[in-house]
Amino acid sequence: MSGMKRIQSPRSMQELGLEWRRQGICVGLVPTMGYWHEGHLSLMRWAREHCDLLVASIFVNPTQFGPGEDLENYPSDIERDSALAAECGVDVLFTPYKAEMYLPGHGTWVNVPELTKNLCGRSRPGHFQGVATVVCKLFNLVQPTFAAFGEKDWQQVAVIRKMTRELDIPVRVEGRPIVREADGLAMSSRNVYLTAEERAVAPHIQKGLCLLEGMVRAGERDCGALRKAVRDYYAAWIPSGVLDYLELVDPETIETVDHVHSDFLAAVALRLGKARLIDNKRINLEK
Ligand code: AMP
Repeated sequence: MSGMKRIQSPRSMQELGLEWRRQGICVGLVPTMGYWHEGHLSLMRWAREHCDLLVASIFVNPTQFGPGEDLENYPSDIERDSALAAECGVDVLFTPYKAEMYLPGHGTWVNVPELTKNLCGRSRPGHFQGVATVVCKLFNLVQPTFAAFGEKDWQQVAVIRKMTRELDIPVRVEGRPIVREADGLAMSSRNVYLTAEERAVAPHIQKGLCLLEGMVRAGERDCGALRKAVRDYYAAWIPSGVLDYLELVDPETIETVDHVHSDFLAAVALRLGKARLIDNKRINLEK
């Protein structure tokens, strides 16, 4: 395929996707909500190296936003994203029309309840139902061989993996590492909501997780003590932040662990001004 193509009609996308599948072409998909940063681009560059045809999608999916969340203000710059897509070697930029993704009366949903009781599933009811449903639709429309997702949204990758496996969807799900700013803040489209003061203290979100890892590696096994130390750290260094959750969970089941295992995930969500920021750290004591 020469030159990047932009497709807005879900039906046209599906016709093309089905044709590619018939031809046995390896198609990579990177689903996004746009306003790209290096985190998105790293997924595209990685996918580019592993497929024949690369599709990136931009869709600010209304069904994954709860009441009072930032759906209306979600940042967007389609011109810039388009230019970046072309630079990354994207073959098709799929930006579906909202009205064609959800027809009036839409009432079919994908739910993965076991993995969504904790973390963001608890603080954003309905969020993962919206995510799983839209990703399932994107898989059916694009018919990719694989799709790449960022581990910044660890729970999201776990949900999509389980959905794909249990619904026999023939797509390989690839989780990719978190991309950070030089000072450690996990990149996010929502970082633009931060004021200069908030941006200056935001790197402490990750530093708190590093503190936790240091304590575990030094022998601390008491989850209560670990969480208290990080909560105290956030209270001291990000006094204007409101902690939504700080949990130690099993990386696959997303269930809270009572005792530190050899392999677990520390996950945090913190509200800072207008932004709700998430981050996580996998801590594997065998590595
Ligand atoms: P979003 O546009 O925020 O829905 O994100 C689209 C994809 O990019 C998801 O798979 C995210 O997990 C991934 N992503 C977002 N931020 C980062 C980051 N800092 N590092 C790696 N992947 C990311």
